[in-house]
This record gives sequence, C-alpha cells and structure tokens, in this order.
Amino acid sequence: MKALVGADLIDGTGGPVLKDAAVLIDGDRLKAVGPRAAMDLPPSADVVDVSGLTLLPGLIDCHDHLASKGYDLASRWGLAEPVSLQHLRTAKVLEQTLAAGYTCVRDGGWLDSGFKQAVEAGLYPGPRLVISVSIISPTGGLGDHVCLAGHQRPWRDDPLLPSGVANGVDGVRAKVREMARVGADVIKFATTGGASSRRGHGPKDVAFGPDEVKALVEEARALGRKTMCHALGGPGLRMAIEGGAGSIEHGCYLADEPDLLKMMADMGTFFVPTFEIYEFHSTISAPHIVERSKTLMRVHQESMHLALTAGVKVVPGTDAGGYVHGDNAREIELLVERGMSNMQALQAATGWAAECVGLDEDIGTLAPGKLADLIILDGDPLGDIGVLRDQSRLKLVMKGGEAFVDNLPSAVPQPVG
Ligand SMILES: [Zn+2]
Repeated sequence: MKALVGADLIDGTGGPVLKDAAVLIDGDRLKAVGPRAAMDLPPSADVVDVSGLTLLPGLIDCHDHLASKGYDLASRWGLAEPVSLQHLRTAKVLEQTLAAGYTCVRDGGWLDSGFKQAVEAGLYPGPRLVISVSIISPTGGLGDHVCLAGHQRPWRDDPLLPSGVANGVDGVRAKVREMARVGADVIKFATTGGASSRRGHGPKDVAFGPDEVKALVEEARALGRKTMCHALGGPGLRMAIEGGAGSIEHGCYLADEPDLLKMMADMGTFFVPTFEIYEFHSTISAPHIVERSKTLMRVHQESMHLALTAGVKVVPGTDAGGYVHGDNAREIELLVERGMSNMQALQAATGWAAECVGLDEDIGTLAPGKLADLIILDGDPLGDIGVLRDQSRLKLVMKGGEAFVDNLPSAVPQPVG
C-alpha cells in the first residue's frame, strides 16, 4: 500500500479543502481518504510526504477529439498522411493528454475502439476513454462529410469508423446499433449545424426531426448507453433537450430560451459549453466561421450563467483536436474567466464530469473504494486556476493506482515496531 500525506486535498465534491490530508492507496483503489491525524497507516505502507502540495482527482475532459489533427479537408478526410503515421500521432496525443493531468476523456468523434483497447491493455499510456466513434446526423448534417465542391468523402477504409449518416426512425435505430457494434460507449448525434460546419448549415439550422431524436435516445438507452448531442441553437436545440439527450454539447444559444434550462435541470441534462473552440474559431478560421463564432460568444457566456442559476451541471469540454492538444485545462480556466468560482470549476472538471460521462461510481471524487485517479500539484488552483495548465507544477499523475508522472520525493520507509 502507498500513502500520500500532508497535502491540501480537494475531493471533487465542491466541499471545503482538507488541510494536512492523507490518502491510502491499495492496488488500483483508494482505501482511505481523510485527515492525516485521524488515519492509522498500516506499518507496511510506503509513505510519501506531499506537504505544501495540492491533491485532487484526475481531471476529466467531457468533449475532446483525440484523433483529429486539423480543420482542413485533407486532415479531416485523412488524406494528408499515411494512416500509420496518423495513428502514431494519435497515440502521442493520448500520452500528452494524460501527462496534462487528464485521467479520463470522453471523445466526441473519430477515435476508433482500437485506441481504447491499447490503453486498457497497458500497451500505450492514455486517459480512460469513453468513445463515441462517429457522429450520427441526417444527410446534410454534421456527420455527412461533403466538400465545398459537393463531393462526398469517396471512401471509408476503416470499418471501425463507419459513416454517421442516418435518416428516418428505422435508419437512426440501425445506426445506433451499428455504433454500439463498433465499440461506442456513448452515442453522439447532432441536431444543429455548428460554427465550423458548411455554409447553409449554421448554429441555428436544424438536423433530424423529433421522432428520429426520440428513437435514437430510446435505442441508445436500450443498449445501455448515454447520449451526447451537438446542439447550438434554434429548433434543434429544443428537440435535443425534449428528446432526452444526456448532455448538450456547445449549447451556445440556451440563454435565448430559458425554459430549456429549467427542463435540463429537471431532467438532469448536462451542459458542456466548449468555450475554447470558439476562441480559436473567432480568430483564425474561414470568414463565415469567424463571424458565427463572434456572434455566439456573448450569449454563450450568458447561457452558462443562466444554466448554473437554474441548477444545471456545467462541465468542461475542450472540443480540442483541430487546434491544439494537451492544453485541456485551458477550458477549466475559461469556465472561471466566464464566471464560475475556482472551486466550482474544479468540481465541474472532476465530480460533475464523472457523472456526465457515466463513470461517477469509480472516478471523479476522492473517497474510499473509488479508483486511485488523482493528481498532485505544486500550486493552489483555488488561488490561481491557471496553475492547472503549467505541467512543470504537476508532481504526480496517477491513474488506477499507477503513477504516469511522478516527480515526488521517494517514499520513506515506516519505522518498524
Ligand atoms: Zn466536437
């Protein structure tokens, strides 16, 4: 067994900091968590003094695209590089993301199940993965890959990344089953366009009808899977919430229809705002994307404020992929810059995020019986949330009791007898 003693402990529940804490780790799980003074450490335990440092649950990103490399067509369609090179780059991203303190990531599309198998088999280091595989949308929607000249993506060489296009109730049900077959843990679908989608299919343009959304959510539930829905505004946003989506991704225009927030709170629907991606799109993307992003920024922030007031759980999602990897904690910093308290943002990135991705029985908070997913920081994120982004301050990243980053002093043997 291993004990980490003396840290300021933030447990992921939003509760007060526990000073001079002790955490006892037995194998891959936490055996005890509490004040050092009240804990009887077994004589055989390796004890590491982490006084002056902050210990918190491993961070969780609820919306990432670990296999995405860029927004240009060649990257999106996988034309720019050999598949082997693309896969090796994705593997590096997994490692980089874990090194940033992220012990769990929910991927919002285009990561195939082989990466998850590789991580689970211990073949390659990476966060725990909750994957969606492909985004389900109707013809012309987000999952329909068509270039500016109107050509469809001409081939799909990987049967584990099938097309997400489905139409009609039967088609949508079949597509959910197909995604489950290729290893999707969560069913991702899109009921609106987005900032970066094609001209004519913008943030308030609808995709799918209510019958299709209901069938999709129902089929996912029947297969034991949660759903996450890309929805920015307009009728598609309402349809996703009324249809029972597990989380609303982006949700920029929620503030325009506050009754939706009440509905989300009542139904336990999570809100994943993804501020970081719009910062990127509002500066360097194509002109129609820049315009869409600038237009939605103010209302997006307002949507987060109203959501929190309404009692909706707001969790961080970077939507990373096309613009950067490994700086996932920038999104937590943005939650604070846009109005969350530091403690609330930390809870959002741990306890609430674990609920959102459906793993709260095992991760997200530090309590006896949970998996030992935790990080130790040289810095106080309650004073400066930005310390989460500084990897030189990360002294320990532990996933399931195994240290991936370990810059702590070595264990001191307990005196015997
Ligand atoms: Zn996304």
